[in-house]
Amino acid sequence: MADYNPQEIEAKWQKRWAEARVFETEADSTKPKYYVLEMLPYPSGTMHMGHMRNYAIGDVVARVKRMRGFNVLHPMGWDAFGLPAENAAIKNNTHPRVWTNNNIAEFQKTLRRFGFSYDWRREISTCEPEYYRWNQWFFLRMLEKGLAYRKKSRVNWCPKCCTVLANEQVINGGYCWRHEDTLVESRELEQWFLKTTAYADQLVDDLKELEGSWPERVITMQRNWIGRSQGAKLKFAVADVKGAPPIEIFTTRIDTIYGATAIILAPTHPLVAKLLEGSPNRAEAEPQLAQMRQTSVKTADLATAEKVGVFTGRHATNPFSGEKIPIWVGNFVLMEYGTGAIMAVPAHDERDFEFCRKYDLPIRVVIQPRTGEPLVEETMTVAFSEDENGVLVKSAEFNGLSPEEAIAKMTAYAEKKGFGKGEIVFRLRDWGISRQRYWGTPIPVVYCPDHGLQPVPDKDLPVPLPPNPKLTGEGESPLASTPEFVNTTCPKCGGPAKRETDTMDTFVDSSWYFYRYCDPHNDKAPFDPAKVAYWFPIDQYIGGITHAILHLLYSRFWCKVMRDLGLVKHNEPISRLFTQGMIQKGGVTMSKSRGNVVGAIDMAEKYGADTGRLYTLFAAPPEKDLEWSEESIEGSWRFLNRVFRLIDKHGPAIRETKNWNFDSKGMTDKERDLIRVTYQTMQRVTQDFETRWHFNSAIAQIMELTNDIYLAEPLENGVRPEIRKEVLQILTLLLAPMTPHIAEEMWEMLGNTDGLWNAPWPILANKQLELAKDNEVEIPVQVNGRVRATLRVPADISEADIVPKALAIPAVARHLDGKRIVKQIYVPNRLLNLVVQ
Ligand SMILES: [Zn+2]
Ligand SMILES: [Zn+2]
Repeated sequence: MADYNPQEIEAKWQKRWAEARVFETEADSTKPKYYVLEMLPYPSGTMHMGHMRNYAIGDVVARVKRMRGFNVLHPMGWDAFGLPAENAAIKNNTHPRVWTNNNIAEFQKTLRRFGFSYDWRREISTCEPEYYRWNQWFFLRMLEKGLAYRKKSRVNWCPKCCTVLANEQVINGGYCWRHEDTLVESRELEQWFLKTTAYADQLVDDLKELEGSWPERVITMQRNWIGRSQGAKLKFAVADVKGAPPIEIFTTRIDTIYGATAIILAPTHPLVAKLLEGSPNRAEAEPQLAQMRQTSVKTADLATAEKVGVFTGRHATNPFSGEKIPIWVGNFVLMEYGTGAIMAVPAHDERDFEFCRKYDLPIRVVIQPRTGEPLVEETMTVAFSEDENGVLVKSAEFNGLSPEEAIAKMTAYAEKKGFGKGEIVFRLRDWGISRQRYWGTPIPVVYCPDHGLQPVPDKDLPVPLPPNPKLTGEGESPLASTPEFVNTTCPKCGGPAKRETDTMDTFVDSSWYFYRYCDPHNDKAPFDPAKVAYWFPIDQYIGGITHAILHLLYSRFWCKVMRDLGLVKHNEPISRLFTQGMIQKGGVTMSKSRGNVVGAIDMAEKYGADTGRLYTLFAAPPEKDLEWSEESIEGSWRFLNRVFRLIDKHGPAIRETKNWNFDSKGMTDKERDLIRVTYQTMQRVTQDFETRWHFNSAIAQIMELTNDIYLAEPLENGVRPEIRKEVLQILTLLLAPMTPHIAEEMWEMLGNTDGLWNAPWPILANKQLELAKDNEVEIPVQVNGRVRATLRVPADISEADIVPKALAIPAVARHLDGKRIVKQIYVPNRLLNLVVQ
């Protein structure tokens, strides 16, 4: 008798796997490929159990696929650049590289301790020059294609990060994604951008390829973020000034045009002066206008600033209705945006609502909600701006349309009549990648006094980070204050020049890292396209919903750029996406800052990795949040002990037995029952793994099977050795993807010498399928198609035998009273239907 000793067993099998190079993969055209990947971690602090779920799920998938004959690529690496490393280095007076590499060592130790089946030869770390040189290489390709450009722009600046943030990194209406208590400021800076908008259409259209295999929620979030809408430019003629050109406005809600009750111009609109000439309102308006031009509203304050306006005394003609509406000037309309003029539709736009209420302009509802109370102009307190649940009213021939239909029809109408033009607009902006910090990829361009901006030639890549920067977290970029980095020569003339000192947003690193795993040590190119063609697209990607926009959108953009560079052939990098739930403790997500973490290594030392893995898979379905419970871990631990004892007890007697193809003739009832429940469990677990990812229910089934085996104890009474072995061996195989170490050990205890890693996933042959069948089935009995009763009968009972049994049921007989059976339909093991007249 041996006790279950996970520490010993886990070390033993991890060593064997490494020696046998079980998880090392190469392209192999004789096998179907399967690329499964968990999002690469940012190595900071120590790994806790909140991190482990993602990896446990990925590892089950990788191991099941290997057992099912796939050539599986399952790599791991580190998202190693980024601000926390720099900040920690400043705080602890060390180098970001030292801090980062210490964390990587810690993370790697933890993942190895849990026995995840990674091909460690493919490990990458994005802060190494052999990786980031390819960020620089891609940047230069984008520069050549006009997809990377520099412009002066208003940027989001986090005063705590001391750097610029992408729009995607400004959250909760104006706060830093990393500092949720810090309001982002607006600054004017010269910045590098990647032209994500060049692919805006494809980024929306190709979402169709992902429907059904990406979570609906993620697709919706991406679609909304890109925000493609049909806009229109429309001309409103000026009604009461001879010779005035028409006012052009831009709108994305042409469907509301019958509700327009004013035109509002920017204070600097060129037409304002002409409109005021000879206007009865001139004397009153001019001083107010002068005031408005002085205190122009900044973009950042648009939503909150007090709205101020003045009437010009003139009117414009609504091109749809012919109605004359007043022309105003308003401080919240900017010349830099659109055409510098808008139509005010107060009933359906919050900003217009506020303005029109203040100046007593009429409010007219032209979209009514399809359900609920109709809107009443006099009592409205907010605009109704939803467009999904509405229907057009007071809009002449367009009444009854949905806003979406109306936008298409009315745009076409405006084009036909010659007073408007459709224009597709996007919410998506280009990706600002400049960061004024040290720990990132240097942007590979130099500035020559004579030749201006010059790209660094490919042969001079990588542009490495200077090894010993002065890091203060204040003032200008650390690279700018490192003369040996800044001062260089111009690639064109050889004269003195200065390097760009911005580094790249770290989301650049993670936008293409999964391609590098296919060819991680290539020093001639980012990867060999043939290797990528074999492995891509990724069959299964697993990570948190928090990456629904940033990382996944940038990755999709990068893929399309690479496709247009001829490096890859696919449109989308990721076939299937799974977003796992979080691990919580005390009702909140486990995180170091909340102080509610359970250390992963502590967990492995106390119970073993297999118990930790089993628990995270068993405690909840993988897409749901999981509340940590010490009691349930004890339960998982006890279960593994129970299985181990079973194998330990029976192993010696059946080691030498051959179980495969055992003779099923003359089986006892006890044998038949045991085999049936084993095979049925196997079928259900296979389904749970393959189609539904119900790992928790798979484990519950395996626990039940274990109970059934215990109930049949002593097995040696009435169960032949080959059947005992069959049952215990299948139990072991079913556990292998989730608790691989104990499964290997038990496999060996059952007399197998060649390692469970070589064993295929058990699939039933025809003969065994028979044995998996229930000996009794429940059959619904219908009369004229309506179920009146169910009948428990032996499986495969004949029609002649089942009909009399059905007729004997009172609930059935009652419906036959005085009628005649004209037809009986019997589907064996499924249903019986009696048609009566
Ligand atoms: Zn910040
Ligand atoms: Zn030069």
